[in-house]
Amino acid sequence: MEREKIDPARLAFDIDGVVADTMHLFLDIAREEFGISEFGYEDITSYELEDCLGLDGETIKKIVIRLLDTDSTAALVPISGAVDVLTRIGERHTPLFFVTARPELEAIEAWMQKTLPLTPENIDVVATGAFEAKTDVLLSRGITWFVEDRLETCFMLEEAGINPILFRQPWNRKEHPFPEVGSWKELADMIRF
Ligand SMILES: [Mg+2]
Repeated sequence: MEREKIDPARLAFDIDGVVADTMHLFLDIAREEFGISEFGYEDITSYELEDCLGLDGETIKKIVIRLLDTDSTAALVPISGAVDVLTRIGERHTPLFFVTARPELEAIEAWMQKTLPLTPENIDVVATGAFEAKTDVLLSRGITWFVEDRLETCFMLEEAGINPILFRQPWNRKEHPFPEVGSWKELADMIRF
């Protein structure tokens, strides 16, 4: 039996690793500004970058600070298919709703507005500053489905009664009970248009 399709009004999205190709930018900054080039995308097998890349915490912190600044955020590239599918969803339901654990809203909101062919009032972005804060924001907006790449956050969402959809990435390859998509095309197949 086919699963019931998701109502776009009940669906929201994480940004980094789902809409934005943030880890490729991380690797670019590591290489170009810090001279670190010994690993690639597939080597990022955990959200704990110290564990999987063998870099010291201080260096990772510096790269992440650079990654989150306005200039770097402006250089982000969307993940393949994200803009097309979000545009289609935006034809059914607006505002599109995005919840990021980034500490600062401004740069990522500007990037979303630049990246999507929708008017700013149709793109709603909340920056919580913490992974744990996502659930309350989503519940307060009546969201029941959330697309996320951080597996630990998926478990938190599930506990709060929100259905996570895991966006497949090298850093979330562990066993889990959630629906999973490997592309925006696969995600589109789950949505009621
Ligand atoms: Mg993410």
